[in-house]
Amino acid sequence: MSGTSKLKELFSAAYEDGRSQPSTVAREGAAQLDLGQQATDFAVYIHVPFCRVRCGYCDFNTYVKDFGAGADRASYHDSARKEMALAAQFLREHKLVPPPASSVYFGGGTPTLLSVRALRAILAEIQDTWGIAPGAEVSIEANPDTITDQVARELAASGFTRVSLGMQSALPRILTTLDRTHRPENLPQAVAALRGAGLAVSLDLIYGTPGESLTDWEASLQAALALEVDHISAYSLVIEPGTKMHALVDHGKLSPIDPDSQAEKYEMADSLLKAAGFKWYEISNWAKRLDTEQFPSPQIPDATYLANTSRHNLAYWRDWNWWGIGPGAHSHLGQVRWWNQKHPRGYASRVAAGELPVQDGEVLAADSRELERVMLGLRTAAGVKSLRAEERAQLPALVAAGYLEEAAARRGEAILTLRGRLMADYVTGQLLGW
Ligand code: SF4
Repeated sequence: MSGTSKLKELFSAAYEDGRSQPSTVAREGAAQLDLGQQATDFAVYIHVPFCRVRCGYCDFNTYVKDFGAGADRASYHDSARKEMALAAQFLREHKLVPPPASSVYFGGGTPTLLSVRALRAILAEIQDTWGIAPGAEVSIEANPDTITDQVARELAASGFTRVSLGMQSALPRILTTLDRTHRPENLPQAVAALRGAGLAVSLDLIYGTPGESLTDWEASLQAALALEVDHISAYSLVIEPGTKMHALVDHGKLSPIDPDSQAEKYEMADSLLKAAGFKWYEISNWAKRLDTEQFPSPQIPDATYLANTSRHNLAYWRDWNWWGIGPGAHSHLGQVRWWNQKHPRGYASRVAAGELPVQDGEVLAADSRELERVMLGLRTAAGVKSLRAEERAQLPALVAAGYLEEAAARRGEAILTLRGRLMADYVTGQLLGW
């Protein structure tokens, strides 16, 4: 079955009665449906599946090799644009009109391995296909070594508003263990170039690398704070089976991750970031608290909707709709979720043949949607506001255990405490009665 037929089948299964519609998508020519507070958000994700070097811990869908026309660095943007045209055609045929994208995110992989001209061509296609809302967040992930004054100016002139730099650690020894190739001494120059071009800057950090002490982690946090950026993400290292790092741990060449040390590092991150004026808005993400008035369209009355939060990340955690372009990219529209062919070669040949590169998908059943609503909502500082009676019944015990905030629980809401953030999966399970 072709990818396009697969997607048609999924949409028929989800909406065959003609009464329900994917939320945040209006029928062409019809009045906007009652879409609730999330009516205006539609996100576009572009996956760029290339990296210069494969990091030992990485299990993302990324490749160091090129795979020929449409699946190499020089021509990948043509495949991405073609997929978008096919997506637009599919939506037109189903008389569905998403609103202009309120966020666009280029992730990977290493998106800056594409030329600025190629990135600009993809952005132009998004603009032509769906439109990009005024004031939209347009982000790209980048290796700090690739950012010069000229690249920063070109990214800003192309329409990007935000750059997420993969800093990971301030210590060369830790970067070597992670197989990261950038030089930490280049960070200040990269951040200055981006800020000079008027771009918002986020830093990604990783804690728990084998051989990293608490003092090492503190040094990385302090180095990140010294760069005075708007947003910091700190992720706990996960050593996935099948990665080079997993094999090294298995053979006793690297030490395994210690959960107690990870908890200590998380608490340290929260404490230092908080002291520097950052506020957590999702378990692994902190933003500077700024006036929401600065946000272009703060339609969403949400305490976590701060000026420096990643709007694109919120699209995922708030279960908004997004179309993911590229090999292995996932998409979500209303009750339907699907994912693309994983390998760049298979992906490129599908779109070249004029079919959507959909590998498979699912129609989300009510219990899956409830699980995601609770699990994803709980990860955010806004928590889960409307709980079912059986979920509310769990609140007192979770407050007594120190996992949920008491004041929120009195209002019938679930918001994690710092201790609860370390036990988010357990709290989700308790709320859902597992
Ligand atoms: S740079 Fe990122 S995406 Fe690329 S191999 Fe390393 S961890 Fe994976």
